[in-house]
This record gives sequence, structure tokens and C-alpha cells, in this order.
Amino acid sequence: MFKDLLNSKFAEYQAFIRRKMVEDQLIPRGVKNGRVLEAMGKVRRHIFVDDYLRTRAYEDHPLPIAENQTISQPYIVALMTELLGLRGGEKVLEIGTGSGYQTAILAELAGQIYTVELFPALAEKAKAVLAAEGYSKIKFRTGDGADGWPEHAPYDAIIAACAAPRIPRALFDQLADKGRLAAPVGEEGAQRLMLYTKNGAEIKETFITEVRFVPMLHTKI
Ligand code: SAH
Repeated sequence: MFKDLLNSKFAEYQAFIRRKMVEDQLIPRGVKNGRVLEAMGKVRRHIFVDDYLRTRAYEDHPLPIAENQTISQPYIVALMTELLGLRGGEKVLEIGTGSGYQTAILAELAGQIYTVELFPALAEKAKAVLAAEGYSKIKFRTGDGADGWPEHAPYDAIIAACAAPRIPRALFDQLADKGRLAAPVGEEGAQRLMLYTKNGAEIKETFITEVRFVPMLHTKI
């Protein structure tokens, strides 16, 4: 009885903190898309971090996860998601599953999500957490994200959470016509968040802002 009450109070508190995150960190910085804001207010970010970080899950910065990686800052997740312009039903490829948090946000907003992670331990953990949170349709692959996931291409949107010196060719190839790709590009310490839009044989590129991401590892490019 008491435990149930405590759990429901805790859930209420987390929901309140999430709303505050949306109001204090996302809206003032210009995130406008209502569906993105709703998803950010809904997904239980604290479930995607280690127990000792739970109380800090909604803070305005990245947090460590296993394998020396990070769960991205909430604002950056919202910004990148907004750039993809998802309306529902899209096929999306994510490079760098990490904790699975961004994957959950994508699953709230699009149709089928394919996600690729280099470290098996991260992929396994994210898979378990996402299943427990009720996301049953996501497809996982362990391997080098620079190769994309050719079997399911083309993708309406592609998002990468790790930075390569330039976008791997395979990712542009696997992007659908009119598709959008959001990714950090550049060497450590000098990365630029870029949005690419495919228009036939042309790729239009737009610089969004300077960012700091973990590097895309082990790639041949
Ligand atoms: N979106 C994640 C962010 C994780 S950080 C989240 O919300 O938690 C970036 C991730 O990219 C890390 O998990 C890292 O292991 C992964 N990564 C690094 N290089 C990679 C590569 N070549 N292929 C696939 N994943 C890679």
C-alpha cells in the first residue's frame, strides 16, 4: 500500500520535472514543434540512465552511460529530432543507440525505427529498457553505423549521435528522396550540427549550431 503510494508520488514528481525541463530548457531555446515537446515531456528519461544518476536525469547537460559514452543533453535531442520534421509513419535510421533515449523519442514520433550501435553491451541494455517501456517495434543492429543498415533503406530520416569527420557515403545513399539527415560533423572539439536534405541527386546542407558529441568510432572513413 505504502509502496504503491510512494511509487505514484515519485511518478508524479518525475512528470513534473519533465514538464519543467520542457519549459525551462527547450521552449526558451526555440524548440517549437508541439509533437517533439510532447514526446520530450512524456518519455521517462530517468529510466535510461544508471540508478545513481536518476535524480539528475533531467538536468541541462549530457550524462555518462557505459563504455565511456554519453546520453545527449535533452535540448540537443529535441533540436535534432525537430530538424527531422517527423509527422508520423516515417522510417527512421538512428546511428548510436547509446542509452536508447533518443530512440524512444523517435519511436513516439515516427513509424518504424532502425537503430545501430557499435557496443553490444549498450545495444543489449537499450533493447531491454525500450522493451520494458513498451516500445516493441524498434529494430536493433550491433555494428558500425558508418555502414548504415542497407537492407531496410531508403530511410525518410537519418540521425547520428556520434560525430564523424564527414558523413559516411552509405548514409547519404540510404536516405530517401526528400529525406532529412541530422548529424554532428567534424573532429573532436570543433563539431558542427548539420542538416542535409536530399533532393534528387542534390544534397542541400544547412549549418545549425556548434556542438560537442562523442566521436564515431572504428569507422573506415
Ligand atoms: N542517442 C544516444 C546517444 C549515445 S552517444 C542516447 O540518447 O543515449 C553516441 C553513441 O554512438 C554511443 O553509444 C556510441 O557507442 C555510439 N557509436 C560510436 N561510434 C559508433 C559507430 N561507428 N557505429 C555505431 N555507433 C557508434
